[in-house]
Amino acid sequence: EAFRYKKVNEVVEMTLELCQERFRDNGIEIKQYLNPDVEVHCREIQIVQVLVNLLNNSLDAISELPVKWIEISACDLGGMVMIRVKDSGKGIHQDVVDQIMLPFFTTKEVGKGTGLGLSISKGIVEAHEGKFYYELHEGHTSFVLELKKYLTKS
Ligand code: ADP
Ligand code: MG
Repeated sequence: EAFRYKKVNEVVEMTLELCQERFRDNGIEIKQYLNPDVEVHCREIQIVQVLVNLLNNSLDAISELPVKWIEISACDLGGMVMIRVKDSGKGIHQDVVDQIMLPFFTTKEVGKGTGLGLSISKGIVEAHEGKFYYELHEGHTSFVLELKKYLTKS
């Protein structure tokens, strides 16, 4: 897949077309705070894969909670664009936070998780010369992709 300039809201739209129904079926609202002008230079399908991984993790984390929402937001940081996926879960336990990006690390039951989603996502974003990290944001679980608007290599 080639690198192309893509509007973030179009990448998010492709992602939601793939998985929105399952979220609706689980009573989960996905809120979007996107700026139509924000563009990134990316391999679109790979970034869709990252977003699908994050949404699936959020679904697993919140489907049994009384309050369940996911927020996807994007903002322009100048040379970089930040895309954040935040969910109504209360964050990742201190004891495991250093391990979540490792391949095969999972806290899910056997058969429910491979532990590959975050490590693959991190690899994809780093191959875009970007950053991928977890943060506790306003008391809720957030994963952030920082992607370059312009790439020096491809
Ligand atoms: P898997 O989903 O197969 O377990 P991942 O690499 O996607 O593997 O995630 C690794 C672990 O990180 C999960 O098992 C879970 O403990 C934690 N995690 C990831 N996303 C979230 C989230 N949104 N809320 C709470 N915990 C999460
Ligand atoms: Mg996962």
